[in-house]
Amino acid sequence: MNSNLLEVSSLIMKFQGITALDDVSFSLKQGEITSLIGPNGAGKTTMFNCITGMYTPTSGQVSFDGKDITAAPAHQISKHGIARTFQNLALFGGLSVLDNLIVGAYLQGRSGLIQGVFKTPQARAEQKAAEASAYEVLDFLGMQDAAHLKPSEMPYGRQKQVEFARALMQKARLVMLDEPMAGMSAEEKKAMSSLIRRVREHYEVTFLIVEHDMPVVMGISDKIVVLDFGRKIAEGSAIEIQNNPQVIAAYLGDSH
Ligand code: ATP
Repeated sequence: MNSNLLEVSSLIMKFQGITALDDVSFSLKQGEITSLIGPNGAGKTTMFNCITGMYTPTSGQVSFDGKDITAAPAHQISKHGIARTFQNLALFGGLSVLDNLIVGAYLQGRSGLIQGVFKTPQARAEQKAAEASAYEVLDFLGMQDAAHLKPSEMPYGRQKQVEFARALMQKARLVMLDEPMAGMSAEEKKAMSSLIRRVREHYEVTFLIVEHDMPVVMGISDKIVVLDFGRKIAEGSAIEIQNNPQVIAAYLGDSH
């Protein structure tokens, strides 16, 4: 339970002239909820992009479950067991919730979408299995009633839950949530926080979360990693982070 699932070591990511990540290291213990915070432009999304293979870091290493995944492309990262949601919803608005979830399962399945279109026996079996697990996930989330709705017809908070459900469909061991509470009401934030905790217990999922809502972050995180101008300036429990002078200075200096 206490071994490291993800290790980020001395990660550097440079864009022309900008060092978005500057020698950042941290690790995630299996089953922990870790939040990655920092003022706007601190490098949080860049870190997500480096871990999920959307960017190849300039230098440094990312390893998952003991395997080096630094240079792995995004589609391989999801097969390793890492799922991600996006800051802006990345759902298929025209598909039903059920079909959006089934697409999530294909990201993990072996036969792939092309075979799915031609309905090979293996693809048919996977389709059936995917449908069954989609209903299971919806049931767990208390969203059975939404199976045949289109996300575009649902309130924003519910759409975020669908995106989260799709990440669960990938049977991921690490789920990375990019601003899961953005645009949610206080009520929806509470529901999402308790959902994250329930999923951690039930599916033994490890979480890495980028979130701007500080009360939510403080309430949900086992550990918090703070970035500022691409550097890690602090790491610790909610109480340690709240009382860290460098963290306070970084946030007070932020004009957003
Ligand atoms: P926010 O909270 O506003 O989403 P963030 O902490 O996620 O910010 P990043 O989006 O990772 O910050 O940006 C870190 C820095 O890297 C910024 O200066 C940004 O302009 C720069 N950056 C990010 N992606 C690119 C890119 N593809 N090309 C050039 N610069 C980039």
